[in-house]
Amino acid sequence: MKFIVTNELGRLAKWLRIMGFDTVYHNEREKRNLIIESLRGDRVILTRDSKMSVYSGTRMLHIKSDFVEEQVKQVFTEMGIRPEEDRFFTICVLCNKPLSKAAKNEVKDKVPPYVYETQDLFMKCNACKRIYWQGTHLNNVKELVAKRLQLNQKTIDGGKDNLGTPSVG
Ligand SMILES: [Zn+2]
Repeated sequence: MKFIVTNELGRLAKWLRIMGFDTVYHNEREKRNLIIESLRGDRVILTRDSKMSVYSGTRMLHIKSDFVEEQVKQVFTEMGIRPEEDRFFTICVLCNKPLSKAAKNEVKDKVPPYVYETQDLFMKCNACKRIYWQGTHLNNVKELVAKRLQLNQKTIDGGKDNLGTPSVG
């Protein structure tokens, strides 16, 4: 499932990306392009604008809360989807592009020395060149999902392919 969010939902977009859901922003005031982009990309529209009417052929969810945790919860509950641990950190939080594996020697000068010494699995974004690695932030996401959202999480793999990033907030 893919999403397009209106510009007031930036934090929600970030969390959806962290959890592996392809999510783009719509920054224009013109709503017509939002509809076009939604249909073209088969994206569900997420908006705080309660006055926005649902156009035929589009799927739209009016987000009720101002709080990102409640927003994430609403999306998962109403869309009937679950966070899946093996999808966490599979796309770039900044540019929404898929991440690819990076060899350890490739990232040596791009990550802090401590990270280089303690981590073995790295991913990179080919668009913005940001490097991601397994770390404490993965645990933060797991905690958000399990405790703060209390969502039913589907765990597929023991975490081998799960990656963290230094600046998720
Ligand atoms: Zn990127």
